[in-house]
Amino acid sequence: MSYTGRFAPSPTGLLHAGSLLAALASWLDARSHGGRWLVRIEDVDQSRCKPGAGREILRQLAGCGLIPDAPVWWQSQRGTAYQSALDSLLVKNKAYACACSKREIDQVLRSRGLMPQRGEERLYPGTCREGLGGRRPRAWRLRVPAATGARVQWEDRRLGVQTQQVDQTVGDFLLKRADGPWAYQLAVVVDDAAQGVSHVVRGEDIADSTARQILLQRALELPTPSYRHIGLLRDAEGRKLSKQNGAESIVPGLAAVSHSIQSLGLNPRGKTLGELLENATNQWLDV
Ligand code: GLU
Repeated sequence: MSYTGRFAPSPTGLLHAGSLLAALASWLDARSHGGRWLVRIEDVDQSRCKPGAGREILRQLAGCGLIPDAPVWWQSQRGTAYQSALDSLLVKNKAYACACSKREIDQVLRSRGLMPQRGEERLYPGTCREGLGGRRPRAWRLRVPAATGARVQWEDRRLGVQTQQVDQTVGDFLLKRADGPWAYQLAVVVDDAAQGVSHVVRGEDIADSTARQILLQRALELPTPSYRHIGLLRDAEGRKLSKQNGAESIVPGLAAVSHSIQSLGLNPRGKTLGELLENATNQWLDV
């Protein structure tokens, strides 16, 4: 089997225990399959990135023995590829320009009794599907197919069979804002395909995006990788460990890697980084 995996951190802060766990899981999965492991810095939204964090994350990974098998990609340099993907969708009428502001979308949703609960996705009501009516484009959206075309099913390697009816949960989702960055969904799909990623291993907080990514892969006629979403590390209050919740940056080295191996349910054995990682690789397939 030809296996290419990747770790794709957003440099909104440094590596913390939660992101190290995702990095290590994707590395172990790649190594235990005899595959390649890549790193892609997802700095597509520059306004959210911390200066220097991308480089520092790479240093932290190296200090944990996690070294990519090919040069690192930076999404901030991939605009041309994203634009040509969007253009090809527009030409085929699989994407369209949208003039709605958030407030206008909310008005329509409220009038239909569809306002989302906190933390839920906003279902785009389709206002601009048939045209802008002379209004200025604010964004571009994927035209999600109707009915069975919007039903996505995939088998997650940890969570099992997952199904989402995308037209009823998120609707036509954003690919780009006119005055803002490329959307994560478009950038991740274009880059996973361009880097030949066959296996995605990442945190289960992103599992919910997978159906949208599969729809985009279909629209762009790109292959769908295999997905495995790992359990998240949580703080004492049960919240996902994240930069937003103030998770501390890791100190790269034996202790951090050993702790991370343990969090994955494996037995940390070895006196050097190399031994620790090799023993963890040998245990990984059984997880
Ligand atoms: N950049 C995303 C993050 O840091 C991960 C995206 C992915 O693995 O698909 O949460």
